[in-house]
Amino acid sequence: MTISRPLTDTFGRVHTSLRISVTDRCNIRCFYCMPAENVRFMPRSEILSFEEIERFVRIVARLGVRKLRLTGGEPLVRADVPALVEKLVAVPGIDEVALTTNGILLSEQARALKQAGLARLNISLDTLREETFQRISRREGLDRVLEGIAAAQEAGFGDIRLNAVAIRGLTEEEVVPLARFALERGLEMRFIEYMPLDADGTWRTEQVLAGRDIRFALEAEFGPLIPLKRDDPSKPAVDYRLASGTGRIGFINPVSEPFCGDCNRLRITAEGRVRNCLFSTVEWDARSLLRGGATDDEIARLVHECVGAKKAGHGIDSPDFLKPERAMYQIGG
Ligand code: SAM
Repeated sequence: MTISRPLTDTFGRVHTSLRISVTDRCNIRCFYCMPAENVRFMPRSEILSFEEIERFVRIVARLGVRKLRLTGGEPLVRADVPALVEKLVAVPGIDEVALTTNGILLSEQARALKQAGLARLNISLDTLREETFQRISRREGLDRVLEGIAAAQEAGFGDIRLNAVAIRGLTEEEVVPLARFALERGLEMRFIEYMPLDADGTWRTEQVLAGRDIRFALEAEFGPLIPLKRDDPSKPAVDYRLASGTGRIGFINPVSEPFCGDCNRLRITAEGRVRNCLFSTVEWDARSLLRGGATDDEIARLVHECVGAKKAGHGIDSPDFLKPERAMYQIGG
């Protein structure tokens, strides 16, 4: 392979982070991400094999990608994810492999993931009430998520982040209990603004509970939140610490305060389409190259083409915003 120049886009953003969706399947059906029933998942033959994912990662690692995050769908419903982690950790140039999960299968897998070399875990937790959990996810399972969080801590994962999608009319009641739950366990609680990536197309601006409003609610309960210096500007979250203690709370505000100017992320979907943005309406088909005998350089060129076409911003707030055809579970959040 002779191509090794960094993945710099036309706005000077250097891409060093890749989100890999390992499946579009999930064991719950959150309304902000998936349809409730009759989901048409991709046939398994269309999904990249671990070997194909590893080859793609080797190629992009030579182009400067350093961090990987496995996601989905729910990554842990795919068999043997620890084996994939082990492969990816060993790729020269890769500094960190992380994973985002809904936590339901974590109590069974946390130890194996840790042993495989997984560095970090983000666990989704929108509520501490089973009834609200079922309203959101249209399945049972909060207990299992909480067991999963405990298991991850027991397995030795540090810096665990709990991610809650913030939805007006739903999350206001949850903000303080969630923050307290995280603070008491030494975890970081992060609130993510609801983005127009639901499968049913029912997202409305009025449903977005802005990070700023959550911050005010937390300050009323816990006292002032002090912004922390951003060590890495490409991180989507703005982190705060409690003035009264050591706990951290983060806000990911893609709708009210877009952070596209510092974006360094690329994505590959479960079936091998490369995307330069969650909101991209165009994709680059790496699977055809991976399965069609293409050289590493040809695949590197495709990734460069994708990065070269990246727009300045996601455009949610623009009048000509076009919602991507794919919902979040089909992209990989
Ligand atoms: N199943 C895993 C999980 O639940 O963490 C990984 C995939 S999920 C798509 C990744 C993250 O995206 C989760 O924290 C989820 O809550 C979030 N998410 C899904 N749809 C979203 C939306 N429309 N707006 C904001 N965040 C969303």
